[in-house]
Amino acid sequence: MDFDVIVIGGGVGGYSAALRAAELGKKVAIIEKDEIGGECINRACIPSKTLIDAVKILNKIKKASWIKASATLDYEELSRFKDKIIESVKGKMIKNLENRSVTIIKGKGEIKREGEVDVNGKIYTTDKIVIATGSSPISLPAFPLNGKNVLDPWTAMNLPSLPQKIVIVGGGVAGVELATLFKAMGKDVTILELMPQLLPGFDKDIANETKKRLEERGVKIYLQANSKIIESEDKVVFDVTLPSSNEKVSGDLAVITIGRKPNTEGLDLQAVHVNVDKRGYIIVNDRAETSNPKYYAVGDVAGMPLSATKAWKQGIVAGDNIGGISSTMPKYSPISIFADLEIGSVGKTLDDLKKDNVEGKEITVKMEDIPRAWTLNETEGFLKIVVSGNKIVGAHMVGEGATEVINTLSLALEAGLTVDDLYKVLFSHPTVTEIISEVMQRLKYGEVY
Ligand SMILES: Cc1cc2nc3c(=O)[nH]c(=O)nc-3n(C[C@H](O)[C@H](O)[C@H](O)COP(=O)(O)OP(=O)(O)OC[C@H]3O[C@@H](n4cnc5c(N)ncnc54)[C@H](O)[C@@H]3O)c2cc1C
Repeated sequence: MDFDVIVIGGGVGGYSAALRAAELGKKVAIIEKDEIGGECINRACIPSKTLIDAVKILNKIKKASWIKASATLDYEELSRFKDKIIESVKGKMIKNLENRSVTIIKGKGEIKREGEVDVNGKIYTTDKIVIATGSSPISLPAFPLNGKNVLDPWTAMNLPSLPQKIVIVGGGVAGVELATLFKAMGKDVTILELMPQLLPGFDKDIANETKKRLEERGVKIYLQANSKIIESEDKVVFDVTLPSSNEKVSGDLAVITIGRKPNTEGLDLQAVHVNVDKRGYIIVNDRAETSNPKYYAVGDVAGMPLSATKAWKQGIVAGDNIGGISSTMPKYSPISIFADLEIGSVGKTLDDLKKDNVEGKEITVKMEDIPRAWTLNETEGFLKIVVSGNKIVGAHMVGEGATEVINTLSLALEAGLTVDDLYKVLFSHPTVTEIISEVMQRLKYGEVY
């Protein structure tokens, strides 16, 4: 046998699976047809956050009347900076794999028979296979991608220059982040969202606060907008059906943030008895195991949530189990949105509890009640914590630092902490995380200020 483990796909999920299995003494190969780091490092999380962080600095300077500078964005220089970061992160990943003696094989991995992977006609034999091939944008009939002016997010972010009028289809995580980015670059931005709230599935107050902030910045947002592209020759024109009217919305560029499919072409999953759901995503249990005990699947190809947060951990879990350490996925997966006002969310909303017929309540503390928010000149937003009895079951925050604060709350949920447990914890002053103490205080004894 050539290897103990072959990992197909070198994104975040495949990387962590390969590294973990190798750490535990397995002889591992990772097959990557494009670039180690996959979508997250090369095309999604890291580049998009580099761009968003840059425009946030710009926004902060504009907002601070006591800073006397006229800052502008040098997009070319920023793109070079972004490329440097991608290369550094990717370089470290490759080094880590090499240090653990993981063999990196360049090419497309294909599964045809049990225990074998074919790369460019060469067969590699293995005991275990980890499928970590990710997902890709799809061209939907109402929004056909054309490589010119109807694009997926990454292609749009990599245009050498952006046109003035941009229409974003989908008001989810990617739509909100891109709207933040494009608006800060001075573009006219419109979001078309099919559902009645921006950020569908999120706490509705979080969604409303985000909508308000984007609208204050000048982003036009249509909700309950059933739209389709009717022209994309010169301008992109949308026919938009709203609850009580019909409008034509046009732009120079349309960015389609909805619709993805698992990357399973070339993997004959049926032949090796690996089951998929009706959308083609591989079905796994909480140990990242598929229906075939020799096959694991991690990351986007293994279904929702499609996030690097999950992909990385699922890779570790697969690596652990292959290496003989029994391991399961965490119960909670926090979501962060790096919008102008950051968002962090983990666990249940009050609406979720109502749907499940579970008693619960939520308590909200505004950012303006936290001294640190004032020193940061960012007093908008709030933290909302959902409890059932004394147990913390959800946390939803919008505001400066939310993407960091949510990790502490994720820990609280995962550890099953109660209000009494968290009330005992001291958070240093002045920090944004102190907002957690304030919520606990109010849950136990009411307001102190
Ligand atoms: C604009 C944008 C921003 C995002 N921001 C965030 C964020 O901030 N935080 C977050 O958690 N998530 C974010 N995501 C989601 C995140 O990028 C993905 O969930 C994550 O990259 C999935 O990792 P993966 O390892 O499963 O797959 P991928 O990263 O897609 O990696 C799969 C790899 O497999 C390779 N491959 C595919 N088929 C084969 C084959 N047959 N043989 C060999 N190689 C193959 C591909 O080339 C690819 O490199 C974002 C997504 C987008 C689009």
